Amino acid sequence: MSTFTAVHEPLEARDVLLGRTTHVRRILPNRNRRMIGAWCFLDHYGPDDIKRAGGMWVPPHPHTGLQTVTWLFEGEGLHTDSLGSRQLIRPGQLNVMTAGHGIAHAEVSPESAATLLHGVQLWAVLPDGVRESAAPDFTHVADLPTHVGDGVRVTVITGELDGWRSTAPSFTPLVAAEVGLEPGASSTVHLDRGFEYGVLVVQGAVRVDGTDVGRNQMSYLGQGRPELSLTAVEPHDESVVLLLGGEPFEEEIVMWWNFVGRSHEEIVDQREAWNGEGLDWVPERFGQVADFDGDRLLAPPMPNTRLKARGRLG
Ligand code: MN
Repeated sequence: MSTFTAVHEPLEARDVLLGRTTHVRRILPNRNRRMIGAWCFLDHYGPDDIKRAGGMWVPPHPHTGLQTVTWLFEGEGLHTDSLGSRQLIRPGQLNVMTAGHGIAHAEVSPESAATLLHGVQLWAVLPDGVRESAAPDFTHVADLPTHVGDGVRVTVITGELDGWRSTAPSFTPLVAAEVGLEPGASSTVHLDRGFEYGVLVVQGAVRVDGTDVGRNQMSYLGQGRPELSLTAVEPHDESVVLLLGGEPFEEEIVMWWNFVGRSHEEIVDQREAWNGEGLDWVPERFGQVADFDGDRLLAPPMPNTRLKARGRLG
């Protein structure tokens, strides 16, 4: 007997211009569905021809209270940060950065990069108990658990799926995985009934528990599912899905610009700690990104209204 109602809720993306050149499809936060587990932010971009579109160019900017996860399907990226990290990233590899009390980083397309750039940028909220105490950290994981068979390829990016576990640091029960399906291939993955899930199709088209989800579409799948069947319906190319899930995150948070806090006042403090007296000022809380050829990004003015803490459903 079924103990849950199968949800299939489309999450519409909106177009956002990032920096001067990069258009992204912002899927989280969404109006009525701000998070999936602790995943509070999801930008999907490309495939873009970087020779034409200009490539990734995100100058040094700060983060607080979250982890950033960079995951590429095509192309290359160069990450630098205020801890002194300098890391190239390629498809199949993971960059995860824990902001804690404060960190700054930059992400650009290296000059040597391949023509096409296609990827996602995710943020996971840090729970209140660790968001100030978690040490700022950058971890690059070059080898993630990947399971291949019967036309199906599963890579666990964060957390655990079907007994395969990523070594990426995380602070709440959550999962991210890439599933590649050759034309006609099917896969069933086991889910955690206590998690909520969503799937984003980044290439091809996939039948998800009987419902077709097209390229660049995301479907929120709710909680209580014991498993999920995925079948490629695109007849010519591999279909690729990003599966996201996690235990519903029950804390209310304030997300503004690149900061995640719990109150308006905290965000005001974080903004002042970064902007200071302008570009020549040293933001001690966040540190400086060395060797960046350009200015850091200052935060915009605060809105005229007070920022409100919001829960996962808005
Ligand atoms: Mn960032």
